[in-house]
Amino acid sequence: MQYLPIHVDTKDTKILIIGGEGAAEAKLRTLIKTEAKLILIAPDINPEIARWAEQGRLTHMQRDFEISDLEGVRLVYAATEDDALNLQIGDLARAKGLLVNAADQKDACDFITPALVDRSPVIVSIGTEGTSPSLARAIKTDLEARLPSTLGALSNIINGLRAKVKRAIPDLSTRQLFWADIFDGKDLINQLRVSGDELTARVDDKLAGHVKDKIGHVSLVGSGPGNPDLLTLAARQRLHSADVIVYDRLVSQGVLDFGRREAEYIYVGKEPGGVSTPQPEINAILVEKALEGLTVVRLKSGDPLIFGRADEEIDALEVAGVKYDIVPGITSAASAAAEIGTSLTTRGHNKAVSFLTGHDAKGFAEHDWKGLAAGGARAAVYMGVGASGFIQGRLLMHGAAKDLAVTVVENASRDSQIIVATTLERLADDIKAHGIKGPAILLLGYSPRSAAKNVLKTEAAPQRKIV
Ligand code: SAH
Repeated sequence: MQYLPIHVDTKDTKILIIGGEGAAEAKLRTLIKTEAKLILIAPDINPEIARWAEQGRLTHMQRDFEISDLEGVRLVYAATEDDALNLQIGDLARAKGLLVNAADQKDACDFITPALVDRSPVIVSIGTEGTSPSLARAIKTDLEARLPSTLGALSNIINGLRAKVKRAIPDLSTRQLFWADIFDGKDLINQLRVSGDELTARVDDKLAGHVKDKIGHVSLVGSGPGNPDLLTLAARQRLHSADVIVYDRLVSQGVLDFGRREAEYIYVGKEPGGVSTPQPEINAILVEKALEGLTVVRLKSGDPLIFGRADEEIDALEVAGVKYDIVPGITSAASAAAEIGTSLTTRGHNKAVSFLTGHDAKGFAEHDWKGLAAGGARAAVYMGVGASGFIQGRLLMHGAAKDLAVTVVENASRDSQIIVATTLERLADDIKAHGIKGPAILLLGYSPRSAAKNVLKTEAAPQRKIV
């Protein structure tokens, strides 16, 4: 983001506009809606600007620009029809520390004017950092059509109700949650069409209910493999209304960004082989926060019910009588399979696919190696990077083919994703050679197909249908 969008308070400020023709008129169309005192310098002005001057919406000084005009102003619009003059005025103003907008010369602008949907006091501003004004206009047109004309009035009514809600719910984050529920994001455009009376009744109703049963809640939410596009709508809604977000190491920042800024974020990551938050402590945090009446989201990577110790947390919640629900997520094996463009099950090849963990509470996890070594068996191994040598040894020992295709997908769905196509015989060596540290899924019995991008291959790896 090169341009910071901010809404500047124009009350009691002076804004200087130099120019009296089309360029100045275009800027003035927005500026006359503000509360700023507008000073316009130009030897001549067009009829529209003259009309605004007559109406007292701006003060016209009929002469050329002088450097003393910059005294006491906050913003400067250099909007004459002469580009060189605009640049010159811009330089003078900037030297005085003022912010300048030079008409039609983006590179000479300290700020640019966004496209606006004006339902004052609700303002939607759309900017493309000057890259595509036509796109900004298209978005504006769409929003203009969808946002009801009564939006500004509605916002003023909400403002009037705030004091009452604040008295009933003094805690800021609980209060924000209350308002988030009033407009819950589902079918928002229709919700915005309510009349002032309907809205007031809805707020009163909710307020009565809220005060009566202030009971916390925990949602166990799957954050998917990391790419925020793979988050479910339900997960986004839960994040949007959470007071507390308790999250794991593999939850990506892009996903956390769906939470509110005011929410409390508690990191309980378990570093492999490093510092970790003990599970009982995590359970205790969930229970404690919920019993305080807060809405808690327990955010886990992938799907919360796969290798996520969800049962232990659910047990703790049930014992404490805390209400909970579960929002599934895309598990890493599903994401990894999608990234290599292959089906996890193939008719006539494998009737089952196993999801295995490389580690369990005792160390490297044991499995039915004989079954897995049998021809056609397929599996997705979670937490398998450190255990790759062990898995390879066990499978070979039980008769698996040395050239069994294995694909390693690290950071599936994320920008940092790496795909390594290898064989069982070379698995551990290739993991090392390509610096794979995880998080990664080992797909045993799978090779990448044409949809897979940037596949790193070993010489011995199957070359089938790889781009
Ligand atoms: N509940 C999670 C799994 C948690 S166990 C799920 O359903 O995916 C942690 C393991 O998940 C990691 O060791 C790794 O094997 C896998 N994992 C998580 N995110 C991943 C990603 N983006 N790409 C590949 N593997 C991932």
